[in-house]
Amino acid sequence: MKINTAEFIISNSDVAKCPNEPLPEYAFIGRSNVGKSSLINMLTNNKNLAKTSSKPGKTQLINHFKINSNWFLVDLPGYGYAKVSKKTKAVFQKFITDYFEKREQLVAAFVLVDIRHEAQKIDLEFITYLGELGVPLSIIFTKADKISKGKIQQHVAAYRKALLANNWEETPPFFVTSSSEEIGRDEVLTYIDEINQD
Ligand code: GDP
Repeated sequence: MKINTAEFIISNSDVAKCPNEPLPEYAFIGRSNVGKSSLINMLTNNKNLAKTSSKPGKTQLINHFKINSNWFLVDLPGYGYAKVSKKTKAVFQKFITDYFEKREQLVAAFVLVDIRHEAQKIDLEFITYLGELGVPLSIIFTKADKISKGKIQQHVAAYRKALLANNWEETPPFFVTSSSEEIGRDEVLTYIDEINQD
């Protein structure tokens, strides 16, 4: 997919105030500092579209960007636990769960994880939460330039194993990316394009 236009539309923390245009929507989410803003800037070929920062936790809003006038890229805040319930079931911030539970335009979610790290509990719980909700999801590994080529497949395989151990019968699609080396851009955009054309 060629990105002709990428424009910021609105930021807010209330799903009811998200744009009411019936365009397909793709959500990007992950822990703070995972490289989400850099990835969004790489995908849209725009260095300044999403703010990048080395300070964690900067984006606390749902940001809608309209791409090529025909789909929305949604930049969601870094998730964290809202509180731990008695059943030790993960509870994420309400405006994030509201978004996934109520947003009819949502087509698929991309959960970003740093390829350097072992599968983290909060990421696995969030992926499971989305899976149980029936949200189609993919995993985007970020910062692939930070490990050797040989290690990349090893880390991806370990992640696959961690998901299978978390009751996933088959694993979601995986994308390996690096914003600084422009790796994975075409793969992610082609995937979105294919869904949009179905
Ligand atoms: P966000 O908080 O998830 O939006 O993360 P940012 O995009 O602001 O990135 C957090 C930090 O990781 C910044 O210092 C970025 O320069 C760095 N970073 C992001 N993506 C990459 C990448 O692909 N490779 C490398 N080496 N660093 C990255």
